[in-house]
Amino acid sequence: MSDKINAFEMAQAQFDHVSELLNLEPYVSEMLRWPMREFKFQIPVRRNNGTISVFYGYRVQHNDARGPAKGGIRFHPSETLDTIRALAMWMTWKTAVVDIPLGGAKGGVAVDPAALDDSEKERLCRRWIDEIWRAIGPRQDIPAPDVGTTPQMMGWMMDEYSKMVGEYTPGVITGKPIGGGGSLGRNEATGYGVTYTVQKAMRRFNLDPENTLASFQGFGNVAQHAAISFTEFLGGKVACVSCWDRDEGTSHTVSHHAGINPRFLQTITDIYGSINKDKAIEAGYTIEDSDAWISKDVDILIPCALEGQINSTTVDLISDRVKIVAEGANGPSTPEADDFFRDNDIFLIPDFLCNAGGVTVSYFEGVQNDMNYYWTREEVIERLNTKMTAAFDGIIKVSESEQMFMRDAAYAVAIDRVVKAMEQRGWLFVP
Ligand code: NAD
Repeated sequence: MSDKINAFEMAQAQFDHVSELLNLEPYVSEMLRWPMREFKFQIPVRRNNGTISVFYGYRVQHNDARGPAKGGIRFHPSETLDTIRALAMWMTWKTAVVDIPLGGAKGGVAVDPAALDDSEKERLCRRWIDEIWRAIGPRQDIPAPDVGTTPQMMGWMMDEYSKMVGEYTPGVITGKPIGGGGSLGRNEATGYGVTYTVQKAMRRFNLDPENTLASFQGFGNVAQHAAISFTEFLGGKVACVSCWDRDEGTSHTVSHHAGINPRFLQTITDIYGSINKDKAIEAGYTIEDSDAWISKDVDILIPCALEGQINSTTVDLISDRVKIVAEGANGPSTPEADDFFRDNDIFLIPDFLCNAGGVTVSYFEGVQNDMNYYWTREEVIERLNTKMTAAFDGIIKVSESEQMFMRDAAYAVAIDRVVKAMEQRGWLFVP
């Protein structure tokens, strides 16, 4: 469904546009349009049949002016250095937009985790740490889960890092299992954060939640908790979700005329976010093609899968009824899609604002690890709501006062904070 988008070129183009609006010095732009540090390494893994598979791992640290670099690790077959660079750069803007004292990084391995069993996955995770442990740490760079990685994998990685440095170091990685240094509320944080921003946007349009229909792409960690909170907290209805079908090598949309029940669908979904089609049909759901989610007659589109999904070929499928696009995924909309949103008065909640709930609770997790004192779930969720709401209000203010598109306003706020930190640290010479 994607246009062969290079995510890093897209991230650079978005940055360049706002850098011009802000009149950044060319050398400052140059420093920010590229990552500070990049690592690419081999990961040989012994398979259970005795053979060795060689995978390629990455860690990219885009900027750490505001604090230790921070960002997830993806296990996905089509991972490349450029997707990781883009995601690392977006992390810098994300931590800045929610104003938490962290920078931006991202890592990954080009691998299909579903093709490995648990012991192979554990060896892969431990070896990833063995290759990169000197460059990460609670005061340097703190990884977390993302597409294809799980709390259990974070637990293995934290354990391996602790072995390498010789002491228990839970703060090296977030998204760990509960009881193993993880924070209550982390699992649902990104999805809940999406809903908090959607709720704010709905109020702007006076959308009555009970008559508001949303359509999701994806049904993994982000989409599941966003769909649950959208239906249960706000009382909205979800027309459909979509997911990748590994057997058929394509994606499909799972819809229900009366609105899907996300809690039921969760029970027939695997850990990678693929819904069991047969069980869905048995329960009265309809299976539609991969693009059906985007063409639904709904008020809100919530892409929660991968980059470049709303692009020049799919954007024309969007119904006239759509008023809000909430980017649960990172980089789901291309510049052509942004033009369409602007021209059609579609209100955009940009990715690094919309999905910042995960990194916000990751930050809370690190704070709790440092204190060795853990908060209740209610405390975590309340603090999350406060942070997301404040970030949303701050961006809206700039968007309105400067007559800026929401994505540009979010970039302007984030870039300003990062450049200030660089200045304060003496990284930028005053001409
Ligand atoms: P996940 O692996 O749990 O789920 C991904 C979902 O997308 C799955 O349902 C999968 O079947 C589906 N999918 C994959 N390719 C697809 C395709 N071509 N068409 C339709 N569906 C497809 O991942 P996640 O953690 O939910 O992350 C989703 C997005 O949100 C990613 O862009 C990720 O970077 C971003 N994100 C995640 C977090 C987090 O805390 N997990 C935080 C911020 C941003």
